[in-house]
Parts: sequence; structure tokens; C-alpha cells
Amino acid sequence: MQETLQALLGLQDIDRHIFKVEAELRRLPAELERRTAQLARLQAGLDERRRVTTELRSQVREVENITTQQRQRQRKLENETNKTSDAALIAAYEHEIRTLKRTISQAEDDGLRMIERAEQLDKEVEELERQVAEEQTAFEEFRANVERETAAAETRLGELKAELETRSSDGIDKAQLDLYKGLLATREGEAMAELEGRICQGCYVEIPKNLAVQLARGIVLIQCPSCNRILHPRL
Ligand SMILES: [Zn+2]
Repeated sequence: MQETLQALLGLQDIDRHIFKVEAELRRLPAELERRTAQLARLQAGLDERRRVTTELRSQVREVENITTQQRQRQRKLENETNKTSDAALIAAYEHEIRTLKRTISQAEDDGLRMIERAEQLDKEVEELERQVAEEQTAFEEFRANVERETAAAETRLGELKAELETRSSDGIDKAQLDLYKGLLATREGEAMAELEGRICQGCYVEIPKNLAVQLARGIVLIQCPSCNRILHPRL
């Protein structure tokens, strides 16, 4: 059993590195995706503000057109009022003029508020444009780094797998190898654990005495009852 444990530890040594490199290869595209989404959100915020600003300015123009017409109407009514001596007609004109003045004044207030809001948005757009440009530069740098790191990790992974091929798994039967590989996956790249005293160094839980005795005898593979890792004495 000593031989099997030695062989498994040899594999574990390489597999630990493979596990780390593979985790890195998963992390890098995930990180790239996260940064892409972040940049897209920033860009969407910028687009939305640009859209609202354009819409506000078009509303302002519309309000200005309407008030221009209303002012013309007001002047016309004022002229009509001066021309007639019909008291009822004058009262009607004056009533309409008052209404027009109120409407125009309200529209002017609304227009001013819209212009202020548009100007505020202009500032936000400017700030966001600066941010987007900055983020874009940082993102391009990051992407170039990811490409370099990914290429390096893939090369390293190839080397490690080649090393694993040459590493002998003699003395490990298929069931043992399957158990080991299953544990690699579930225990994040650490399938083996040293037993120190009666404490498993994988999960730091004490194992029952009879298991420690069996491990010392070295006849069968012993797994930690707590974390399932294959236990080995200090070798
Ligand atoms: Zn354990």
C-alpha cells in the first residue's frame, strides 16, 4: 500500500498544479465577461442620457413654437381690442388674452426647467464620455493581459498533462485511481491528506483510533471519514 500511496502522491503533486491552472483558465474569461458587461452598462447609461437630452431639446423647440404662435395670437387680440368698442367682445378678448398670458408664462417656466435639466444631462454625458474612454483603455489593456495569461496557462497546462502522462500510475488499480480522481474534483484538487497523530491534515478532524491503526498497518487505502480524502502517513 505504501507504493500505491507514493504513486498517488506523485500524481497529486502534478494534479494540484493542473487544478490551479484550470481554475485560472476558468476565471480569466469569466472576469473578461464581467468587465465587458460593466463597460456595456456604462455605455448604456451614456446612450440613455444622450437620448433624453435630445428628446428634451426637441420638446423645448416644440414649446417655443407653440408660445410663438400664442404670442402672435395675443398681439392680434390686443389689436382687435383696440379697434372695437363692443364691450362684450372686448371682455371676451381680454379673457382670452389673460388665459394666453398664463399659458405662455407656464410654458416658459416648463421650457426653462427642461433647458436646465438638459444642461445638467450635458454635464453628465461629458463625465460619462470621459469615464467610458478611460474604462475602454483599461479594458483593452486587461483583455491583452488575459490573452497573454491564457496562452501562458494553456502552455503550462500542456506541460503538466505531459508530465502526468509520464508519471507512473503503476501499483494503482482502476478503482483506486477512480476514487482518487473523483476526490480531486470534489475536494478542489486535493484528494490526499496526511494523517498527523490522528488528525487529518485535509479537514483537521480527528479520525477513530481503529482507522489510524489500519493506516499504520498499510494493507488497505484508508479515507478520512470526515472529508473522504485518502489518508497517508508522513512519507
Ligand atoms: Zn479529513
